[in-house]
Amino acid sequence: MNLDYPITYINGISVQRAALLYADLGIKTCNDLLNFFPFRYIDKTTFYPIKDLQPNSSEVQIVGSITHLKSVAQKRGSRLIATFQDPTGSMELVWFKGQKWIKDSIKINEPYVVYGKLNHYNGNFSIPHPELELVSEYKKKLQSKMQPVYPSTEKLTNFGVSNKLMRAYIQSLLQQFYDKIEENLSQEIISDFKLMSKRDALLNAHFPKSQENLAKAEYRLKFEELFFIQLQLLRKKLINKTKIKGFVFENVGAVFNEFYADKLPFSLTNAQKRVLKEIRKDVASGAHMNRLLQGDVGSGKTIVAILAMLLAIDNGFQATIMAPTEILANQHFTAVSELVSGMNIKVDILTGSVRVKKRREIHAALEDGTLHILIGTHALIEDKVKFKNLGIAVIDEQHRFGVKQRAKLWAKNTLPPHILVMTATPIPRTLAMSVYGDLDISVIDELPPGRKEVKTVHRFDSNRLSVFKFMKDEIAKGRQIYLVYPLIEESEAMDYKDLMDGFESVSREFPLPKYQISIVHGKMKPADKEFEMQRFVKGETQIMVATTVIEVGVNVPNASVMIIESSERFGLSQLHQLRGRVGRGADQSYCILLSSYKLSPEAKMRLKTMVDTTDGFKIAEVDLKLRGPGNLMGTQQSGVLNLKIADILKDSKILVTARNTAITLLQEDENLSKEENLSIKKAFMKMTKSSKIWSNIS
Ligand code: ADP
Ligand code: MG
Repeated sequence: MNLDYPITYINGISVQRAALLYADLGIKTCNDLLNFFPFRYIDKTTFYPIKDLQPNSSEVQIVGSITHLKSVAQKRGSRLIATFQDPTGSMELVWFKGQKWIKDSIKINEPYVVYGKLNHYNGNFSIPHPELELVSEYKKKLQSKMQPVYPSTEKLTNFGVSNKLMRAYIQSLLQQFYDKIEENLSQEIISDFKLMSKRDALLNAHFPKSQENLAKAEYRLKFEELFFIQLQLLRKKLINKTKIKGFVFENVGAVFNEFYADKLPFSLTNAQKRVLKEIRKDVASGAHMNRLLQGDVGSGKTIVAILAMLLAIDNGFQATIMAPTEILANQHFTAVSELVSGMNIKVDILTGSVRVKKRREIHAALEDGTLHILIGTHALIEDKVKFKNLGIAVIDEQHRFGVKQRAKLWAKNTLPPHILVMTATPIPRTLAMSVYGDLDISVIDELPPGRKEVKTVHRFDSNRLSVFKFMKDEIAKGRQIYLVYPLIEESEAMDYKDLMDGFESVSREFPLPKYQISIVHGKMKPADKEFEMQRFVKGETQIMVATTVIEVGVNVPNASVMIIESSERFGLSQLHQLRGRVGRGADQSYCILLSSYKLSPEAKMRLKTMVDTTDGFKIAEVDLKLRGPGNLMGTQQSGVLNLKIADILKDSKILVTARNTAITLLQEDENLSKEENLSIKKAFMKMTKSSKIWSNIS
């Protein structure tokens, strides 16, 4: 038997129990069980003096003696109260049940070890139904000083798998296998970071001898867990860099230079220049580029993408931009067409609503190479779409695309096209390390000059009249306004009704012909949506009433007010995205967050954060704290967040150390072939075999 055996090999675990443990806790093998950690410990290492008890102490252990016992009558029955003293103070022990037995067995004025959950009421401490043991008895026994408490489920408890049983299973595993638990880090790493050995770490994580040992064990296991994730990600990146060949864009030629000199409507920000340099270096290297471009809404990612595509064209390649919505694809198409007009570059657009005839033309032009840039939606990855030689694929707002879809783009070519993934959802650095550790990351951390910070306020629904007044004033100044309603799948019918009611009341408040209003939502035909969008883009309408279909990417610089209805129902990153629609022109822009009075603490925090800052990274940090990493965009498919012991938020320091250690290791021993790294290699190979780590594109 070894640790890879199923847990049914452990005494007392029946097939039925094993099935339950697997279903409820994901525990299948002995190894899984060994790596199933307690979420807290009953700490019996410390004896508290009564005077040191705190209202927030939970379980405590105290030595003292009982001086009095009395029964107190209450509404139903009675309770038994003991006065319990130590040299520092006095408190009460309380029983509601089994009073007679307690009364008879308790020895007055003899020292007891008392253990239990502390109550605090009216400045007095008490312990209901404490565990009691005479000190003389206590001293005879070998004490397990910190007892593990394991996560469980109701079902498990009902089937008799108690915490006590779990403890027994794991204890017997450790007794049986302690000697066979293999070290999986190198001696060098262990001594560099003064880590506990693997087997002692496992032992102490379950049955710690002391708080210090527990801390050491936890550190070691967290370090190890993060280290191996980083090692996998970094190895993959290394392989991408060295093994996966990419097209070489050697020439910075006529097209790029002409555009840069004559067509670029503004000078690039330093951040844009830096990112462009990073991209140029990648695409000239002969390796495959796999780069994530992060930049807050409005930071100017599009122009960087266009310049990267021109590099491809200069080298005889085609390029594509894939956008998550038709509206956004159209917008990119318009922008790119305008920017390159007068140059010898053919640009086209392919979306679901392009007619068959036109579609065929596009397919043909792609295959004979006369079409240089194709912009589109999901329609781009249909099987019929074949590029002659796709050199670079830009994927905008990546979180809308699944892994498979990206892989499809890649399948069109002999060599994979360079990939530039653009996202406006900033991810805190440490999280990015875990989720995108195998990608290169560029960040545009600077907004184009002249942007004024969007003024943000939170107003309750009852202030609606003054909001209408404000809207009128802004429209009188020639500004345009977005009015956004939530649309959540689960409550779609209600949400549409709210949207339509809202539209009606706004239409009444802003009557024709003085005011023109656009409305856009998901149930409209694409052509109608586009028509309404265009009216707003051209400035023919002053108000755009919409659901979140406008969330991603629309660019109407004259729109300077964003009003969000029921804003308490939106997530932070969504609110941030929406706000990013304004503040794009030279005028002072505003964001008004409307909400009801009923706000959950989280909703309050979200709205407060929006009012307090416009910094996308700060907002992402708060979002991460509120929702946990598993809910952030892009993390679900990554699998790297199924951490057993480390916490991506709290253990970010360990993460950085682990990552740096992995980097150093790979620099010294790329293939882990050195003798001293054998233990790492063994563990690594085993892990990669079973790993669900997101295989990005490749
Ligand atoms: P995002 O990063 O959100 O995709 P865009 O690429 O749509 O942002 O750019 C937002 C706006 O800023 C566009 O109108 C674009 O023309 C403008 N812009 C981009 N870069 C600059 C710059 N360096 N100077 C001035 N305006 C810029
Ligand atoms: Mg954009």
